[in-house]
Amino acid sequence: MKDVRTPFKVALVYPSTYQASITNLFTHIAYYYLNSYDEFLVDRFTLDNPVFSCIHSLNLKRFDIALFSLSYEFDYMNAVKIVIQNKLKAFNGEGPITIAGGPAVTSNPLPVSKFFDAVVIGEGENALKTLINYITLLPSKKKFLESLPSKGFYIPKLHDGDVISKTYVSDLNNSFYPIYQIQSTLESPVFGKGYIMEVSRGCPYLCSFCMESIVTYPYRVRSYDKVIDIISRGLDSNKLDRVIFYSLSFFSHPSADKLLETLLDSGVRFSIPSLRADTLNEYRLSLISRGGQKTLTLAPETHSHKLKCLIRKSVDEDLIIKLIIDGLKLGMEIKLYYLLGIPYETVDDVREIANFLKNLSQSISNYDLKKKIRVTVNPLIPKANTPMQFFGLISRGNYLRFLKALRSEIRKKHFALEALSYNIAYVQSVLSLGGPELSDVLMRYVGDGLSLSEFRGLLPNFNIDPSYVLKHKDVNEGMPWDFINLGLDLRQIYRSMLSCLS
Ligand code: SF4
Repeated sequence: MKDVRTPFKVALVYPSTYQASITNLFTHIAYYYLNSYDEFLVDRFTLDNPVFSCIHSLNLKRFDIALFSLSYEFDYMNAVKIVIQNKLKAFNGEGPITIAGGPAVTSNPLPVSKFFDAVVIGEGENALKTLINYITLLPSKKKFLESLPSKGFYIPKLHDGDVISKTYVSDLNNSFYPIYQIQSTLESPVFGKGYIMEVSRGCPYLCSFCMESIVTYPYRVRSYDKVIDIISRGLDSNKLDRVIFYSLSFFSHPSADKLLETLLDSGVRFSIPSLRADTLNEYRLSLISRGGQKTLTLAPETHSHKLKCLIRKSVDEDLIIKLIIDGLKLGMEIKLYYLLGIPYETVDDVREIANFLKNLSQSISNYDLKKKIRVTVNPLIPKANTPMQFFGLISRGNYLRFLKALRSEIRKKHFALEALSYNIAYVQSVLSLGGPELSDVLMRYVGDGLSLSEFRGLLPNFNIDPSYVLKHKDVNEGMPWDFINLGLDLRQIYRSMLSCLS
């Protein structure tokens, strides 16, 4: 354990549960990378311990830097809660300098711009190196912030409108990887106990609604040798016998099969939470099953030809049915994910989902389902800095109408249908597509301890007309977050999507 007199102290703040924090790869990277420097002490804070750190029980105010990880929009509320509990003020002399990062704020940092001194635009590894180089400029926050490079850092108080390009790891193979990972004896991570292995970053498919793939563009891989070396040292050092693969589309890796075969030969179990259907086949499913995975999760999103083209994700129905049958033969539980509210969707498009499920029902009628197939329906949330930002969120009326159409045609014998509440999707869309004025809303929302159903009612008090989330925008219209450059021409992609309609 490091001495609390270590010169520089960095707080890693994960504004969710402890369990969620140890499921996050960046927490492990930042913790072990910064702690590898003698002059740095790193400790962690979560919603479960928002004021005093996990290991050293140090007050957050005693740290030089507080790094907040914001993976998705609902983390904003929890982050603000921690900011309030610790009385942190951006650009204020007291307390740590506060820096936020993560996929949601990379695509649009504006809604949280009043809470943090800086926001990392892009991936954390380069940002950590920068912090190490500039930390000696503290305690002068002004000097520190003025010295940060414009690439990869948004500093709300100093930003003059210039374009900020994201920072990313160009050589993933040789970037730092945490051999040791935080292990808890009390809590299991969300995907169970196991060594987290990231074989690739980004996703070659770039579906038009997928913020994560755009934030992590371009697609990069770690070599087979590197992955095997990391896994063998990681399992040994952490005394584990299971690997959890973190990659957006695992089987896009050129050595994916060989990796799994090697692990199976060594008696190592594994699971792959994220799979793309058209990268799968019977053999790969058998590998996954032999690795100990019990659930096959597929996300066809839609079965309408037009909509598949619009979301740039087109998987053949026969293949999905075959994979499900193969999965059932292997004793796997099946989960399917769909989107409602893809632009230009009609009830007929929704019926295509119902028709597919009817066909599936017939195809699996001879199989003994241990559990019903879980079908989850989510409204498509148009995220900032994706081509979907130009389209609006589906209206509540249409969402309920589409859901009703789907529910009425689904056979309850084989399927259990779950749908995300419209209200959650609405608030998430407001936060994703919002501007700096949302910081005041978040402050009031958290300060007054309001519930999600009260969020929308707050907006008029701040002169915000939330109808913008429902509107189809003019592609030539500027977006408030246009100064963030994630490396893709979104307007060009949007125009190509429109050709799906002809
Ligand atoms: S395949 Fe999955 S991870 Fe990749 S871009 Fe599409 S939705 Fe995102």
